[in-house]
Amino acid sequence: MAQILDGKKLASRIEEEVRKEVFAFVQAHGMSPCLAAILVGDDPRSALYVRNKARAAGRVGIRSETFHLPAQTTQAELLDVVETLSGREDVHGILPQMPLPPHIDPAAVFERIDPRKDVDGLSPYNAGRLALGRAQLVPCTPQGILALIHETGIDLRGAHAVVVGRSNLVGKPAAQLLLMADATVTVCHSRTKDLPEHTRLADVLVVAAGRPRLVTAEMVKPGAVVIDVGIHREGDRWVGDVDFEGVREVAGWITPVPGGVGPMTIAMLLKNTLQAARLQITRTVSVR
Ligand code: NAP
Repeated sequence: MAQILDGKKLASRIEEEVRKEVFAFVQAHGMSPCLAAILVGDDPRSALYVRNKARAAGRVGIRSETFHLPAQTTQAELLDVVETLSGREDVHGILPQMPLPPHIDPAAVFERIDPRKDVDGLSPYNAGRLALGRAQLVPCTPQGILALIHETGIDLRGAHAVVVGRSNLVGKPAAQLLLMADATVTVCHSRTKDLPEHTRLADVLVVAAGRPRLVTAEMVKPGAVVIDVGIHREGDRWVGDVDFEGVREVAGWITPVPGGVGPMTIAMLLKNTLQAARLQITRTVSVR
């Protein structure tokens, strides 16, 4: 029976560290780091995520502002908001809540954020730095995934890591971080021919496919570390991309849904906001 990788517990440990560091930052610089979240439209789940992030920021002494724009906001209008926030000295992190409405190109939005304020690490500058192995602001969810994997004590050097999913938000940066940790990495996606053939070889299996219960017990190597990124509502319960009940019989470690990757994403956002504030305090020349 797999051990449970408790993301809630690890996230609260990280939050406590960030809280102390934010306190020291305020003492040193006479101001709090500030996170600006942008919510476009009325999706209740996105609204809940933004509220949770603002609450978490408050817990560690990070100031937050939320900009709630109507669903019909045009791309040009949103870019104006991003531009204004990029120029504000008292704002250190900018977070457009994903997904954005379909008429807005997320790449255009992330291109407009000052890379030093890009707390989700999705701008071409930060994505490029990560690809070059010189990461500065790393996407929050993949950073949380790596922290969870490290919690197991597994030696990633030479381990076989399989990532299911290749999105810019999760799969791709998670694969890059695993590669930087010297794992041998396979990335699978919707065109992968025989998914179980790959997943069965994984010492570490990261599943970010957005498909409920895609990964079942027969697809998992005994003793593997299984990180379930997916989150889906089924009636009155949440399920992941992994069939938790079946896979926990085979895996060595497994993240629950909820309470696994989700809280880690928020903890890493707080960490990134503090790091972004530090980057700006050192008055690094803007790289835009
Ligand atoms: P996404 O942009 O939809 O990407 C999904 C990826 O999975 C794509 O690369 C897709 O392949 C691949 N895929 C889809 N079906 C597959 C299949 N049957 N076999 C193999 N690969 C398949 O999703 P995302 O943004 O990466 O998010 C993934 C999941 O994580 C979602 O459930 C999302 O809600 C969740 N999530 C959770 C958190 C958190 O903090 N807990 C954060 C972010 C995301 P193609 O590229 O070929 O289409």
